[in-house]
Amino acid sequence: VSAGPGPPASGGASLQHGSPVAVALDLGGSNLKAGLVGPGGTSASLVSRETHAELGYEAVLSEIGKVVEELRADARERELSVVGIGVGAPGPLNRPAGVIEFAPNLGWSQAPLAADLARLTGIPQVRLENDANAAAFAESWVGEGSGARCLLGVTLGTGVGAGTVIGGRLFTGAGGLAGELGHVVVRPGGRLCRCGRRGCVEAYFSGWALVERCRDRATEHPRHSLALDALTPEAVIEGWLRGDPLAGPVVEFGLRCLALALAACLNLMNPDRVTFFGGLSRSWDLFGPILVDHVRGFALPSAFVAATFTTSRLEWAGVLGAGGLVLSQSADL
Ligand SMILES: [Zn+2]
Repeated sequence: VSAGPGPPASGGASLQHGSPVAVALDLGGSNLKAGLVGPGGTSASLVSRETHAELGYEAVLSEIGKVVEELRADARERELSVVGIGVGAPGPLNRPAGVIEFAPNLGWSQAPLAADLARLTGIPQVRLENDANAAAFAESWVGEGSGARCLLGVTLGTGVGAGTVIGGRLFTGAGGLAGELGHVVVRPGGRLCRCGRRGCVEAYFSGWALVERCRDRATEHPRHSLALDALTPEAVIEGWLRGDPLAGPVVEFGLRCLALALAACLNLMNPDRVTFFGGLSRSWDLFGPILVDHVRGFALPSAFVAATFTTSRLEWAGVLGAGGLVLSQSADL
């Protein structure tokens, strides 16, 4: 296993001989990130590879199996004791059953990943968790959100997800589905979402929605300045800042849709910290202040003032969280 860009917390050095570790994976549509995660967010052997989702479920599963074997060998060499596998994956998923219900980024539906990984590796404890939940847990565990009473972690990437950590414990709901912020309907009868319903937040403000909405509406705004063939969400946001007639209304409306859903979360959960993750959050300085301003307009004033809005500094939040959740089950956190 090649070395990653450096351990995020106190590093491999503090992983003592005999220390319990989780083999942790963050499975994304583009990249598969993995590593060994130990108590206190210590980590080692961090690695990132292309997922190659286009090769299909069996091929990706086999690649995950290889990564797990390599990390296991690393753990043996370092005399670390593997307590289980943690996988953060795009949802929605059925966590108790270990099944990814559908993941448009991967092209999967009803994928029994936990059982398949247990069979493939012979490691019985496999915890499948929504990637946004894993990231939120990491932020509360070893990130700047530690100490938050109620942390809402919002992942803005190709899709939109969220996770809530209350008093250091991940809130999963009855079946592990809690936090599906992306599929909160903000516009009844609105745009078709990748989940099959209409009017979801994710259909208005997400990596895929920003790009698709611009392409869909391009003929209405012939004077736009976007390169539609190679359009990225970041380019759409930059276009909005330039006052582009196509990108402008798309981003502006998207931000209002996302703010509606966030304001509902604030009123419902009263979080003291809202932390953003994911590719789009890297453009936070460009759109964040305006998003927060919209949230201010929609939320109850006391719910709004209670919350601090930040972006996460944890580069490996998904891996750390997936590992930390396994350790928390075996009381090795
Ligand atoms: Zn949806």
